[in-house]
Amino acid sequence: MVKKWDAIVIGAGVIGLSLAIELNKQGLRVLVVEKGEPGREASWAAGGMLVDSPAETQPALRELATASARMYPEFVHELEDESRLKIDLRSVGTIVLSQNPDATQACPLPRPLAELEPDLQNSDGGAQRFSALFLKERCVDPRDVTAAALAAARHRDVDFSSGDEVLGVEVADGKVSGVLTNKTRFAAGVAVNCAGAWAGQIAPHTFPTRPVKGQMVCVVMPEKEMVRHVVRAPEVYLIPRSDGRMVIGATAEEAGFDKRTVPETIQKLRQAAIDLVPRLAEARILEAWAGLRPGTPDGLPILGATPTPGYFVATGHFRDGILLAPLTAKLIGQVITGERPEFDLGPFEAARFQD
Ligand SMILES: Cc1cc2nc3c(=O)[nH]c(=O)nc-3n(C[C@H](O)[C@H](O)[C@H](O)COP(=O)(O)OP(=O)(O)OC[C@H]3O[C@@H](n4cnc5c(N)ncnc54)[C@H](O)[C@@H]3O)c2cc1C
Repeated sequence: MVKKWDAIVIGAGVIGLSLAIELNKQGLRVLVVEKGEPGREASWAAGGMLVDSPAETQPALRELATASARMYPEFVHELEDESRLKIDLRSVGTIVLSQNPDATQACPLPRPLAELEPDLQNSDGGAQRFSALFLKERCVDPRDVTAAALAAARHRDVDFSSGDEVLGVEVADGKVSGVLTNKTRFAAGVAVNCAGAWAGQIAPHTFPTRPVKGQMVCVVMPEKEMVRHVVRAPEVYLIPRSDGRMVIGATAEEAGFDKRTVPETIQKLRQAAIDLVPRLAEARILEAWAGLRPGTPDGLPILGATPTPGYFVATGHFRDGILLAPLTAKLIGQVITGERPEFDLGPFEAARFQD
């Protein structure tokens, strides 16, 4: 007998993996089809800031960002529980260094900057360089999240086919009948495109996603917790991890599907970090990489149903896919199972791009 699933999730990034778990919880038999290895694209490359700041989030996305940020501790707890893997979720907070002194009034620092981050250098020849504000944002190691989500999905008997590229979603009698890959076909009445920056390449619809390249470098801090907060400055951001690593990011480049790092660019990022925290000059470089954010023409994700019955989409999360994963999974789960989604998905419909 040919095996059949209730739903096929295309792409095993943080969005596809979170959704596969959600659909499994709703009682669906789920297959995830991944062209490479699960969790090795944008979700592996990300910094993991859970940005929930009106100044930095598009108005249409703010409610979703706040709701998803609130879901994070429980999301992480469940994944840790089901996977038996540890996820580095930090709640120390974020210091935003800005050239706009007005921005600091709404979110003052709880203590002087020199006490919060003694190694952070905020003066230049005696003059203060930046105004500083404090946000109670969390950050997470995205590689921990995808590893735990993968293990949790497997534990729940979600099926996987890796190294298998979906070429198109198949339609019979006007609705989804399965997917065609470069190796085989899989049968299901529901398919969800979670293919990140590649989402537009899968027939029959051409979602207008594009890759936005981000280069990053990771160093080992001279001392664990030398920097404790996430620090965002105009030219660079610093994300400390609990094991003593620090991720320094990131560029935003229109460079097609090119994931190569450029030594000069990595050096510039490192230097910008040293300008903020001079002791980072002693820090050993561990790794440099680039990843492809799934961008869209209006910078908003593409979420919900498509014109083909049974075919859904959850992509285009651009800079916020790690943050938005728990809520995206919940909302798309609701749409697929015929429930009314908790938030209005109107602004995120694929149809907004059709003339
Ligand atoms: C440098 C950088 C820093 C970032 N920092 C942050 C941050 O601090 N906070 C935050 O929230 N977000 C951040 N992001 C954004 C975040 O990484 C993305 O929004 C998120 O990972 C998108 O998840 P995804 O599952 O849609 O995409 P991906 O992780 O790219 O997953 C898509 C998957 O689909 C697979 N696929 C593609 N085409 C096919 C096909 N035809 N058939 C089968 N499989 C296919 C791919 O191989 C891939 O595994 C950052 C991104 C980058 C690059």
